[in-house]
Amino acid sequence: MSLTGKHVLSSDLFDREELERLFALADLLTPVARGRQVARVLEGAVMASLFFEASTRTRLSCESAFLRLGGGVISSTGAEIMSIAKGESLADTSRVVSGYCDLVVMRHPEEAAVHEFAAATHVPVINGGNGAGEHPTQALLDMFTLHQEFARFGRGLDGRRLALVGDLRHGRTVHSLMKLVTLYEDLTIVCVAPEPLGMPVGLLELAESRGHRIELSDRPETGLKDADLVYATRLQTERFADRPLPYSDEFRVDRALVSRVCREDAVIMHPLPRDSRPGSNDLATDLNQDPRLAIFRQTDAGIPMRMALFASVLGAAEAVPGALRPAGWYRPDYTGPDDAPFYRNAAL
Ligand code: ASP
Repeated sequence: MSLTGKHVLSSDLFDREELERLFALADLLTPVARGRQVARVLEGAVMASLFFEASTRTRLSCESAFLRLGGGVISSTGAEIMSIAKGESLADTSRVVSGYCDLVVMRHPEEAAVHEFAAATHVPVINGGNGAGEHPTQALLDMFTLHQEFARFGRGLDGRRLALVGDLRHGRTVHSLMKLVTLYEDLTIVCVAPEPLGMPVGLLELAESRGHRIELSDRPETGLKDADLVYATRLQTERFADRPLPYSDEFRVDRALVSRVCREDAVIMHPLPRDSRPGSNDLATDLNQDPRLAIFRQTDAGIPMRMALFASVLGAAEAVPGALRPAGWYRPDYTGPDDAPFYRNAAL
């Protein structure tokens, strides 16, 4: 399968072979993502980022990834500053913007909008999050992170026990992730959520149809036990018509819970942002020194993975190996203050 020229609207697009090809390309591009090498395979190309909903990581990491490949970026955030506010249809906006660029990354609060937008253009459109629907580039970087984290312990993804925790109903990242992890074999997937926030039935059925075991739990204390991966998520307050009930404090994934129930070699991930306000009961900051917490390795992995995707969608993946050369500017050895001990001790 070739990704060249394709819209990336859902994780449905990928099979295991394609994922592993993207991992290999993302590995090759990691020194470029870290500012150690240069690979200008998209020199002259232009990406448009259109974000009709709040974003930090997706927009900035997509833009950074495109710029690191030598491309240029134009961007617009918020419907209120675009002609949509003057009554323009999404289809017209799509046709117009597509004339200005070679690839569009778009986020929109309505699930259907990205499909409507993509139907009006042959320029590849990448879904940067559509309402409570999907977030395929997040799932790609999550898979790349998992692949790297398990590889440190000499393990693969097949046969693992994965616990997905939190607002599994509205969390689009876990929807896309379910479609990708289930491309692997023999998994036990534990969906840990208060009942009204459970994983959509269609995704549970998909997992079962691919031969995996599903367990449902509304108690993190038992649901996280023995998991190889704990994937926590934020309560998607913006998707509720009325004020949502916060998670009970049982759902706070913190040092005390992790030390009571998690494996020594568990991997703890979260798509971020984590809600750090008092009473939010999200992933706690008291885990920041715990080497199992992979959230910043996960955000870092977003750059090479998105570079790999853009290079593939624009048909430039094969040019990458020949384009790599050393970078000529200063970069610190480790990005964050907590990174050095991890990388020094990790069997990388
Ligand atoms: N950043 C992710 C998203 O846009 C997760 C979240 O917002 O909770 O879906």
